[in-house]
Amino acid sequence: MIEDSIQTITKALPEGTRLVAVSKFHPLEAIRQAYAAGQRIFAESRPQELLKKVKELEASPLPGLSWHFIGHLQTNKLKMVLPYVDLVQSVDSVRLLEEIDKWGRNAGKVTDVLLELHVAQEESKQGFYEEEILDVLLRVAAAAPSGKPLYPNVRFRGLMAMATNTDDAEVISSDFSRAEDFMEYLKDLLPELPEFNELSIGMSGDWQIALRHGSTMVRIGTAIFGERQY
Ligand SMILES: *Cc1c(COP(=O)(O)O)cnc(C)c1O
Repeated sequence: MIEDSIQTITKALPEGTRLVAVSKFHPLEAIRQAYAAGQRIFAESRPQELLKKVKELEASPLPGLSWHFIGHLQTNKLKMVLPYVDLVQSVDSVRLLEEIDKWGRNAGKVTDVLLELHVAQEESKQGFYEEEILDVLLRVAAAAPSGKPLYPNVRFRGLMAMATNTDDAEVISSDFSRAEDFMEYLKDLLPELPEFNELSIGMSGDWQIALRHGSTMVRIGTAIFGERQY
């Protein structure tokens, strides 16, 4: 079941789009099965759960497995997350950005991040607005040629967004289209940041729509592992 889903989804992805398997609330055994099917990128949304899985895997490591963090990250939890992940997809405030940078300077690590863009209609969805992201990236780009980068221990890799939680494909499409347009705008505007090229959009219910809007990463949990056991 896990293997079949991974193969079906992977086959449907165009070149340049990667599958991120969202393993939150699923046991290590499910991760092992997905890994056996060839899956290498996994994502968690809670620091405690990520750390527990990382520690459990130390006994019998899965070579080449890469972790992403996709949940709201509190600044007092950074040390539970940052040493173990290759990408933080859910940076949603300047404060968090500053703290990730500060942590990285002490730890000697440069952390890859995506900035979370708020496009959904719900108030509750976290993330930056366009003008806030623009402000951050313009400052980063302006500092780049000086040899004194603004956040030297952060590498800005792109945007992450979540569509409105609805069955209405037009609403979802319009949310993703906003993320896609903004991504294109930023890439044109900021040639100083050539590594800013990832657009993480698409979950179990809407990843096919996301593919039509330039997704380079789909984050899929339920459609691979089944319903989560909370
Ligand atoms: C849980 C989660 C997902 C995966 O959701 P599914 O609907 O189970 O595919 C994707 N992105 C984020 C940010 C999540 O928190």
